Amino acid sequence: MIEILIIVIFIAIMSIYFFTKSSVNESSTANIYSAEYYRGLNYLLNNEDDKALKIFTDLIDVDSSTIETHLALGGVYRRRGEFDKAILIHQNLLSRPNLDKGIKNQSLYELSKDFFAAGLYDKSEKILLNLKTNKSYQDSCNEYLLLTYELSKDWDKAIDFSKSIKSDLIRNTTSEILISQYYCEKSLDYYNDNQLNKMITVLKKAIDVNKNCARAYKLLFEVNIDNNPSLAIDYLKSLVKVDSKFLLISSKEIVKLSSRNKDSSIDKKIYDLVLSASSTSLFSPDLYEFMINYNSEDSSEYVLKLSNNVFTKMYDNLYLSKNDNSSFQSDFLTLIRDNYLSFSCSTCGYTSKSHTWQCPSCNSWESIEPSTISERVTING
Ligand SMILES: [Zn+2]
Repeated sequence: MIEILIIVIFIAIMSIYFFTKSSVNESSTANIYSAEYYRGLNYLLNNEDDKALKIFTDLIDVDSSTIETHLALGGVYRRRGEFDKAILIHQNLLSRPNLDKGIKNQSLYELSKDFFAAGLYDKSEKILLNLKTNKSYQDSCNEYLLLTYELSKDWDKAIDFSKSIKSDLIRNTTSEILISQYYCEKSLDYYNDNQLNKMITVLKKAIDVNKNCARAYKLLFEVNIDNNPSLAIDYLKSLVKVDSKFLLISSKEIVKLSSRNKDSSIDKKIYDLVLSASSTSLFSPDLYEFMINYNSEDSSEYVLKLSNNVFTKMYDNLYLSKNDNSSFQSDFLTLIRDNYLSFSCSTCGYTSKSHTWQCPSCNSWESIEPSTISERVTING
C-alpha cells in the first residue's frame, strides 16, 4: 500500500515538474517571437517591407499566436496598394496545415478583398461565392460581390444578384434604388449600341422597380429632346417632380430642348415648368437667360420669385446691362455661369464639376449633390 502511495506521489511530482518546464519553455519562446515581432514592425515602419515580410513569414511558420498580426499586416499592405504582398501573406496563412476554421475563413475573406482591390474580380468572386454560405460572412460577401459586379460593369449579374439578396439595405442603399440604377447603366450600353428601343424598354423597367428613379426620367427626357419634344417635356416634369434640384442639374439640357426645336408651344411649357418649380436655392444662369429671352416684357416674375438669392439680382443687373459698356459685365457673367454649379458626395465629400450617379471615390449611389455658388460664397450686403 505504501509502495503504491510512493509511486502516486512520484508521478505527481514528475507531472508538476514537466508541466512547469514546458510552461517556462513556451513563455521563453513567446518572448523570442515577441522580440522578433517588434523587429519586424520596425522594418515595416522603416519601409523595409521585404525584411519585415521575411520576419513575419518566419514567425508564422512556427507560432500560431502571430496569425492575427499577419492578418493585420496583410490589411496594411492592401491599404498601401501593395496587393501582391497582401495576397502573399494571406495565401501563406491559408497554406498552413491544420488551420483553425475561423482563421481560415477570415484569411479567405481578406484574400478576396486583396483580389478585389487588385482588380482581379473573377478571383475575388470565386472566394466570396463560397464564403457567403457561412452566415457570419454572408452580408459582407454580398456587399463585395455586388460591388464586384458593379465595377466590372456586369449589370445583368448585378440585377439578378441584388434581386436574390434578402437584406433591405445594401451599402446603405435600398435594393430598389440599386436595381433601377443597374437598369439605367444597362440602358446606356444599349444607347451606345444604337439600340434605342431596348434602351427605352430597360429604362421603363427601372421605373417599374423604382417609381422615383430620377435617372430613368432624366435619360428618357434627354433621349426624346430631338425627336419627340412633347414626350421630353412629360419626362422632364416627372424628373422635376421627383426632385426639383434637377432644374439645376439638367439646366443645359432644358435649354437644349428649346434651342433644338424652336417651337413656341414647347418654350411655353418649359417657361411654365421652370417658373412653377424654381425657388431661391434653384437659381440657374442658363435658365435665367432662357426665361428672360422667352418673356422679355415681364422678366420680373421669374426674378422676383428667386429674389432672395443674391446671385439672382446680381446676374439680372449684369445681364440686362451687358451691352452697355466694357467687357467687364460679360466676363463676370461668364465667370458666374462657369462656376455656378459644383457637386460633392454627401457620403465621402468627393467634389466634382460634373454630376455622376455613383461616387467614383466611395462607390455610393445617388450621393452626389449639387451645390451652387450661392451656397459656397457668402456675400455681405
Ligand atoms: Zn463618395
